[in-house]
Amino acid sequence: MLRAGFSKLEGKVALITGAASGIGKETATKFINDGAKVVLADIQKDQGQQTARELGPNAAFIPCDVTRESDVSQAVDFTVSKHGQLDIMYNNAGIACHTPPSVVDLDLATFDRVMAINVRGVLAGLKHAARVMIPRQSGVILCTASVTGLMGGLAQHTYSISKSSVIGIVKSAASELCSHGIRINCISPMAIPTPFVMEELKKYYPGVDAQKLVKMVHDFSVLRGAFCEPSDIANAALFLASDDAKFVSGHNLVVDGGFTSIKSLSLPTGDQL
Ligand code: NAD
Repeated sequence: MLRAGFSKLEGKVALITGAASGIGKETATKFINDGAKVVLADIQKDQGQQTARELGPNAAFIPCDVTRESDVSQAVDFTVSKHGQLDIMYNNAGIACHTPPSVVDLDLATFDRVMAINVRGVLAGLKHAARVMIPRQSGVILCTASVTGLMGGLAQHTYSISKSSVIGIVKSAASELCSHGIRINCISPMAIPTPFVMEELKKYYPGVDAQKLVKMVHDFSVLRGAFCEPSDIANAALFLASDDAKFVSGHNLVVDGGFTSIKSLSLPTGDQL
């Protein structure tokens, strides 16, 4: 693990949920490279332990199902007892869902399951991080929302609604936490072919080659020459976690290469009118 130059998170301690893979793992890697000690919390025990081993001595793993408030509370307490403090809480764990596309057929049991992880899990992380940050009158809380929480039609209703709620949680909590010197922000990534996205796509396109599916996701990008990668989200998280963002709170940092700002008109040619 190479560390060079100025470290933005020197002396900081972070807890990241959903850190066994994808965006969480990438962010843990970046935070450690920038001087932080990171506790990785995830429901996947073996993969979480493996990731912590890969990241070296400044990483530790704790099993955690964010739908269980006691797990989240314990993850926060473990972090504080191991490192003496919690400076950065990143509520990143989330899932997608495969349900019929119409609201008429909405599967409310699936809705409850997704909300339990993507929304209630974020609230549990926020609650227990605030519990230890308020006495210190400082801290940073981050959450992973999504472009699907900003616009309809980009994902299943259940997932979109859950991510829209995350953006709302951040606004609501910021209104209280600012008086304690605690900043809270979320990041809204564009699609990235991480494990859960690939699992979902395989259900829609059974038998289609994984590389084709990855290319399909990358081709969603409207920014020429670039597509969204976990490192783009980790860079956004590093910015928001560091003092570079010392006056940024209640914000939703959209990392989408302009996708949600652009809707081109497909104008007919003269002879089509
Ligand atoms: P990922 O599948 O690589 O990582 C998700 C992690 O969350 C996994 O390690 C998984 O084990 C963990 N997790 C799932 N349920 C959990 C639970 N109950 N308790 C604790 N951990 C749990 O996918 P990712 O893309 O890195 O997802 C991270 C976050 O980014 C999610 O909130 C997701 O909704 C969000 N997001 C992803 C994309 C994308 O296209 N990949 C886009 C926008 C937002």
